[in-house]
Amino acid sequence: MAPLAEPAIKAVKDGRIRFIPDRFSKIYLNWMENIQDWCISRQLWWGHRIPAYYCADCGEITVAENDVTVCPKCGGTHLTQEEDVLDTWFSSALWPFSTLGWPESTDDLRTFFPTSTLVTAYDIITFWVSKMIFMSLENTDEIPFPDVFIHGLVRDELGRKMSKSLGNGIDPLQVIDEYGADALRYALATGNAPGNDMRFSQEKMEAARNFINKVWNASRFVRMNLTIEKVVLPPVERLTVEDKWILSSFNTLAKEVRENIDSYELGVALQKITDFIWDCFCDWYIELTKARLFSTGTQENEDAQNVLAYVLGESMKLLHPFLPFITEEIWQALPHEGESIMIADYPAFRDDLCFASDEDAMRKIIAVIRAIRNRRTEMNVPPSKKATVYIVSSNKEVFNDSISHFFTRLASASEVVYTDAYQSDDAVSIVTDSATALIPLGELIDFEKELARLNGEKTRLENEIARLGKKLSNEGFVSKAPAQVVEGERNKLNAYKDELEGTLAAIAKLTK
Ligand SMILES: [Zn+2]
Repeated sequence: MAPLAEPAIKAVKDGRIRFIPDRFSKIYLNWMENIQDWCISRQLWWGHRIPAYYCADCGEITVAENDVTVCPKCGGTHLTQEEDVLDTWFSSALWPFSTLGWPESTDDLRTFFPTSTLVTAYDIITFWVSKMIFMSLENTDEIPFPDVFIHGLVRDELGRKMSKSLGNGIDPLQVIDEYGADALRYALATGNAPGNDMRFSQEKMEAARNFINKVWNASRFVRMNLTIEKVVLPPVERLTVEDKWILSSFNTLAKEVRENIDSYELGVALQKITDFIWDCFCDWYIELTKARLFSTGTQENEDAQNVLAYVLGESMKLLHPFLPFITEEIWQALPHEGESIMIADYPAFRDDLCFASDEDAMRKIIAVIRAIRNRRTEMNVPPSKKATVYIVSSNKEVFNDSISHFFTRLASASEVVYTDAYQSDDAVSIVTDSATALIPLGELIDFEKELARLNGEKTRLENEIARLGKKLSNEGFVSKAPAQVVEGERNKLNAYKDELEGTLAAIAKLTK
């Protein structure tokens, strides 16, 4: 084994083959550098039979590619083939090239060998991965693959290895019957880092099914409202702020997801796609476009349809490797070009769909709407109870009359007033980092409760400020943590300070 191991060690050490995560290369190198000779015969009923032939007349042993019927030494014809078979890993070790027609120089072999990525679990690095590497180098002079992507084992809910004796095994076919193949795939791809074991649980399956249902319901709503036959994005001047926000957010997402996938962060990629579809697209964009969708026959209606169909179709492409079945089904039902989503181009960053300032503006608007809705929920005010919303903000380019319709439709505003200073004492104050919304208390309710809430908020913010202040005055943290982490903490601290200022002002007004 030593002469076979030597070039295989070199291939990993010089970086022609890399393990992801890198820590698994240690297991490989440790095994290969302490290599023992390998007993390749097994007494099993099936497998590659060892091509060794024994001559009953002179005792000669002949090894050959083809059946031996005449002894090359004595010319005798009483030959028997060895009955042992090769160790299963001997056969598996040939897999990267034998499946492509080797030793013939086939089109497949020339096209697909060396392969690109091997995906396997860490428990067979020494059995399988190491053997494919030295067998390829020995037989073809090439590495079998440049990347070895290692995943963990699926364990039961209690973290135990699945086994027959424990009876804790899970039948994937049964899970697929119950939740669907996409849901199983989703559950296995989310919530764990490469190389780490994961626990299988019903909750994970339910979360997967919930997400898929959400995607399905959103797509059904979009499809019900589509009359266009071809998706053409409107010219930039006809795009609204929410259109630019969703297009630009999707654009950023596509860029990041590609980067995550390229570096094998599949769980991270899927989480980002999930958050975008669930939160940005379903919960916000669809709601934001409903008014335009219901004004049928207009230009703005057609524009909204096109942006909705574009973002949904592109999102399905991004999601396709993770949920192949439902994405194909939805994509086929949308206006599309091409035969199958499987062979459609994977979304990529587009310079023409980058609208950073609109993306930021819409994020600010959503933050205010969300804060108003949360506050109203906390105060048990039903959405049907409309109230005037006063908005104080230095961001005049964002918070002005052009966005009032969002507040009347989504934040139960009867009217929206933009002002530099709000004078009345009896208002509920809702502070975000870009604006303060004030709603006359008389139009909502309960003075004492509101004061208690503001005081609670004040305590929370003071604690956060103290905590971050302490962290940032810690030499060890500031000098050792990456600059962007320190910067992020500083930004957080400033945001908390702004919020505290707004909260204190609100308390002052209430108690005056
Ligand atoms: Zn012989």
